[in-house]
Amino acid sequence: MAIDPVCKMEVDAAQAAGQSEYGGTTYYFCSTACKNAFDQEPQRFAS
Ligand SMILES: [Zn+2]
Repeated sequence: MAIDPVCKMEVDAAQAAGQSEYGGTTYYFCSTACKNAFDQEPQRFAS
């Protein structure tokens, strides 16, 4: 399981609504809304 960095929900990487790469790490999202929020300000959510 991965953690959606926007809403902190657990996400099954195989069933994630979206994914983005930032700083060499792949992040998975529960919804396209979370992915869009991340893509706009990845530095705010990436840890
Ligand atoms: Zn989410």
